[in-house]
Amino acid sequence: MKEIFEWNRLLMNDLPYSFLLEVLFRCVVMYLVAMLVLKLAGRRGVKQLSVFELVIILTLGSAAGDPLFYQDVGLIPAICVFIIILLLYRGTTFLISRSKKIETWLEGKPIYLIEDGEFSIDNFSKEALAQDEFFTELRLKNITHLGQVDLAILETNGQISIFFYDEKNIKMGLPILPHAFNKTSNSFKNGFQYACKFCGNIQEATNDTTEHVCDRCGKDKWVSAINEKRIT
Ligand SMILES: [Zn+2]
Repeated sequence: MKEIFEWNRLLMNDLPYSFLLEVLFRCVVMYLVAMLVLKLAGRRGVKQLSVFELVIILTLGSAAGDPLFYQDVGLIPAICVFIIILLLYRGTTFLISRSKKIETWLEGKPIYLIEDGEFSIDNFSKEALAQDEFFTELRLKNITHLGQVDLAILETNGQISIFFYDEKNIKMGLPILPHAFNKTSNSFKNGFQYACKFCGNIQEATNDTTEHVCDRCGKDKWVSAINEKRIT
């Protein structure tokens, strides 16, 4: 029976310290193999990994990591894994280049998040993009309300491209700064404009009231709309 806190087992898995020399050798080999495979795979950066490339990187990561220091994991099986993954990757990219359908399925397609200063709810509801995260992205671009944004598109690499209205075309919009967004209106004043918190739709109150349903999405949470300029 093994005892806890056996130092040689805990620190070295009961192996002699000379095993560290083998670790050094394993690291050098797997480092070179990983470099070679990524080079052959034809990718330069990791900035724009699509989902399927991420899967490949994770698989390779495990195949590269284990043989570095697990003495019962050999180098050759790990290198075989690399070669097989490389072949699968090349096969997949070949299929992608041949078929638009497969490309869309694997890489996804750009999705409109905002059109004309409002959320594109048809696309949006299908997407698992968290609203908080999206608002953060917009705020990082100095956007204070949706009326400043003509188009926002979620690209297949996960980045969001944003096209702005120029100054004179800025519309009333849903405020996205936390203090304004969280100030849900409890009453509506005749003649004032309100923004639907769910879809960004702007509606003017036609009488003093306490309840109003969005004619675009059917939700009933509103905040006062704003139309200030975007200052960068
Ligand atoms: Zn709405």
